[in-house]
Amino acid sequence: MESLSPNSSVNEMALRQLDLAADSIDLDPNLRARLRKPDHALIVSVPVRMDDESVHVFTGYRVQHNDVLGPFKGGIRYYPDLNLGEVSALAMWMTWKCSLAGLPFGGAKGGIACDPKQLSRKEIQGMTRRYTAELLNFIGPQIDIPAPDMGTNEQVMAWIMDTYSQHKGYAVPGIVTGKPVAIGGTLGRKEATGRGVVYALEQAVDSLGLDLQKCSVLIQGFGNVGSVTGRELARLGVSVVGVSDRSGGIYNPRGLPVEAVARFKEQNNKLLEFPEGEKIGGKEFLELPCDILIPSASEMQITQENAGKLKCRIIAEGANGPTTPEADKILADMGVLVIPDILANAGGVIVSYFEWVQDLQNFFWTEDEINKQLKEMMTRSFRSVLEASRKERASLRLAALMIAIQRVGRAMLLRGLYA
Ligand code: NAD
Repeated sequence: MESLSPNSSVNEMALRQLDLAADSIDLDPNLRARLRKPDHALIVSVPVRMDDESVHVFTGYRVQHNDVLGPFKGGIRYYPDLNLGEVSALAMWMTWKCSLAGLPFGGAKGGIACDPKQLSRKEIQGMTRRYTAELLNFIGPQIDIPAPDMGTNEQVMAWIMDTYSQHKGYAVPGIVTGKPVAIGGTLGRKEATGRGVVYALEQAVDSLGLDLQKCSVLIQGFGNVGSVTGRELARLGVSVVGVSDRSGGIYNPRGLPVEAVARFKEQNNKLLEFPEGEKIGGKEFLELPCDILIPSASEMQITQENAGKLKCRIIAEGANGPTTPEADKILADMGVLVIPDILANAGGVIVSYFEWVQDLQNFFWTEDEINKQLKEMMTRSFRSVLEASRKERASLRLAALMIAIQRVGRAMLLRGLYA
């Protein structure tokens, strides 16, 4: 068994962020020690009968960081190099994200080390069902509620819900969020993270006295978060000048036809084959000129190597952990405003909360109600972080972490230590 506090660069980064914020709020050292480690970390073997009849054994994870504020909540990621350290960092960030948004949830994350693009639908279904079966005693609508993340989607959530429900003997829609509307999902969940990024951006642009409609936008990663953010911005008349995926990026300083690009990506998978725009390799892509950069892919994309070369004024972190602490310092010196992940991409978990509440009550809301409440919560969250950052003379990231960790710490002190 790997250590409960696993070494990995992403986990080191999450721990450094925790330490910076803990120093700033003078966090009780006993609380800091507890928060540095997850409550539980589970590694499971997931044997799958492949289409060629061979059995492949995948490795699955579920890390539950802290549930002092409520049941664990966090996505399931299917990604080739997934490891315990990465999942632990993502689980910790979920604790801070839920706390900052004022949700009654703790933080968790899970996933399977695999490349879903190399697997058939049947293999993904078999893998998902076996993974869910391995987690049966660790998840539940009052215990730990998974959701989609990189490489997973509504269909994967439907299989998780079905497997869990088959074992219980009755339908349990509240076991996952981000499932199809037809089986207890909510309107607006698929779009929630991207819409939330846009609501946060509107506030950020306003705070700098800029006009969003005059800004140019670059989006790294064009999956759920990146494509919805791009589509929403284009709908508002904002010029999206570049988008990228794992195959590379396309760029047009006069603006891309986002809707057509998104449809092309849905049908062809590889963005680079889109017939319009200049093709730009992965590394140079982030350095293209723009007003707003929206990393929406994986962690540690903006580092001390490339931070100084970025040409944007605002970074809105659609992805979790795209910017390292070293890069944060460089960007602060350059005057770039970074809207941190736990604030910028909280829309997904906020609407997941709405979905969970609707499932528990068996009473469903309209999409207008969902969007209105999402906008209100994102705006309130942004304003409280901005106010704290001005008061404490801290970056938005540090201010957001300070608020989130303080809330978790206070709740831990109130509940006390059971020993
Ligand atoms: P997704 O699997 O739908 O899309 C990921 C996209 O990133 C794909 O287009 C992929 O090709 C691209 N990509 C991967 N590596 C890349 C690289 N090195 N360079 C350029 N593109 C790359 O995943 P998603 O759900 O959109 O999640 C993206 C990020 O947003 C992750 O960090 C995730 O944790 C975070 N996030 C997702 C949600 C959600 O609701 N889905 C909520 C909050 C945060």
